[in-house]
Amino acid sequence: MTTPNTFEPAPGRRAQTKNRVFQYIYYAKEPVTQQQLAYELGLSLPTVHQNIAELEEEGLLLKVTGIKSTGGRPPVGYTVSSGQFLTIGVKLSASQIRFLALDLMRNEVADQRIAQHEQDGESLIRTLTGGLAAFIKDNRLDSRKILGVGITIPGAIDKNREKVLVSPSMHIRDFRLQSLQDAVPYPCYVENDAASAGYAELLFETADGRKGDFAYLLLEYGVGGALILDGRQYKGTNGRSGEFGHMCVHPGGLLCNCGRRGCLEAYCGALRYTRDIGRTSDEFFESLRRGNADSVSLWNDILQHLAVGIANLRMAFDCDIVLGGATSLQLEPYLTELRRLVAERDPFSDGADYVRLGREPEKAGMIGAAGYFITEFIKSV
Ligand SMILES: [Zn+2]
Repeated sequence: MTTPNTFEPAPGRRAQTKNRVFQYIYYAKEPVTQQQLAYELGLSLPTVHQNIAELEEEGLLLKVTGIKSTGGRPPVGYTVSSGQFLTIGVKLSASQIRFLALDLMRNEVADQRIAQHEQDGESLIRTLTGGLAAFIKDNRLDSRKILGVGITIPGAIDKNREKVLVSPSMHIRDFRLQSLQDAVPYPCYVENDAASAGYAELLFETADGRKGDFAYLLLEYGVGGALILDGRQYKGTNGRSGEFGHMCVHPGGLLCNCGRRGCLEAYCGALRYTRDIGRTSDEFFESLRRGNADSVSLWNDILQHLAVGIANLRMAFDCDIVLGGATSLQLEPYLTELRRLVAERDPFSDGADYVRLGREPEKAGMIGAAGYFITEFIKSV
């Protein structure tokens, strides 16, 4: 991981106070007045005034007039100047590369995708950097404002974060991250796709004032996962926690991409109802809606095995189970049935409301990867 050297926090208490003022304004849902800041943060009004002035001078705050008032002089509030900086999330997959630009408040600025079918690391890097340059140019993004580029990859990254050990869907093995980071002309961070999507869900939860305790299942061509405990991503001894796709849900069952049998991914990855049967995901769900007997039978089997995996996660971690990824977009009509199947396997609760759909299922990975730079920036102000 390349640590952006511009993010070093200024030392000392003054900097801490400024950071508290900025973070309070950043996370507030409404514009914040100086009186509010003084009261909520236990600061004197002159101290608040001084810090606001510095943040305004750095272009990080916007003054808002005409906010709600209980009488007297209409107060002036402050919000974060969200367009001051940008971050970019990039999603690498077997058939395309997708780019998403976010501003400082995580508002979407641009979204674009290109096809890719590269079979080796060098060609992939060329396609990615060319696509990134075109994305920035096409959408007239100011490159001076870019804090960093976060890239997600559907594969396991080694403990020292030096290489992608293996990405079965992209046919990549021992892919060195340094060569990718060297080729991207911005601070660059590479992360497993499911870990990034789980991190995005954590950012959404934090913004809602929740702490964040959940296991995240990324349901796409493969099945990935992330474990968020007590508001933090649990990485594991080897940095490979959350590989829920390779939990066994059917001993001796279907052959998995990892070479073993009976994994959750072998049963619930979208490859099972697309590649194996020669149709697209949309075609499969359309035939399911029409009541095609084969599709219904296959889907019931998928739900059964998904329920086994989810119930096991619930038993292990006693937390919410969040379902994300492209397949989760199709899950809404089947959520009640899935919860029923999970509850059947849960000796401790009658229902399974703890199974829920994640936000931004298709973009979460990119939001998480781009969001990493926003989080670092917020800490550094
Ligand atoms: Zn497996």
